[in-house]
Amino acid sequence: MRTVYLNGDYLPETEARISIFDRGFLMADGVYEVTSVLGGKLIDFDGHAARLQRSLRELDIASPVSHADLLAIHRELVRLNGIDEGLVYLQITRGDPGDRDFVFPDPETTAPTVVLFTQAKPGLADSPVARTGIRVISIDDIRWGRRDIKTVQLLYPSMGKMMAKKAGADDAWMIEDGMVTEGTSNNAYIVKDNRIVTRALSADILHGITRAAVLRLAGEAQMEVEERSFGIDEARAADEAFITSASSFVMPVVEIDGVSLGDGTPGRVSRRLREIYLEECRRTAV
Ligand code: PMP
Repeated sequence: MRTVYLNGDYLPETEARISIFDRGFLMADGVYEVTSVLGGKLIDFDGHAARLQRSLRELDIASPVSHADLLAIHRELVRLNGIDEGLVYLQITRGDPGDRDFVFPDPETTAPTVVLFTQAKPGLADSPVARTGIRVISIDDIRWGRRDIKTVQLLYPSMGKMMAKKAGADDAWMIEDGMVTEGTSNNAYIVKDNRIVTRALSADILHGITRAAVLRLAGEAQMEVEERSFGIDEARAADEAFITSASSFVMPVVEIDGVSLGDGTPGRVSRRLREIYLEECRRTAV
């Protein structure tokens, strides 16, 4: 049984309890982060911690935990659960005001709820899926307008994943005003003539921590990167495509809406970037 973290305590997962009045439960009033673990160490912890503080600030939730404490809790959970490859999930909600009300509770009397738990994922880095690539479909992006805040409002992304599954695919890319925003839980990229194209940062997409690292590494490897929007037709005509996220690293996309890209196997640029990124992860993990 896992040991999880709840508001200062390390508990068996069956003993961690949260109020039915918690605003995370009633209103999805909370934010989260997912940090990968490789070789028992945390990948890009500073990036995730910084984005967490930004998400909290944007929602006017006072940060209940310092950077140093957050790191210590992550490490302790990895140790207690013997995680070699896997994830640490963290969620902070506005807390439990003791009743349901749209008005934010007084932060003096209602403290945020802090939850962390681990997920063991043996083979996360050496994933067989990365060798064959994934298939995506396109769906409308009907999410709210502040996708740069990593809130726990994941119903539509979850429905998108189910639409993909139903269509015999692995994931969905979301389309707004004719342009791809991002994947249901990842950032989206295409490659044409060795040039990597991905949407620029704005409130329309999550500012992926993996995205930032991969674009930096691509630049260092003299690969050309263009940050601009692209449509689904341009994507279907691309040489290759891939997604990035903390849990999938760089994952090749080999099919979009039933159209194979290139020869239908993971492209050279995608494979190279996955390699470079994983090397960097292992080198800089804490
Ligand atoms: N976009 C969305 C909508 C996501 O949910 C995620 C992963 N949580 C990402 C992008 C990728 O972000 P990161 O690289 O920080 O995991």
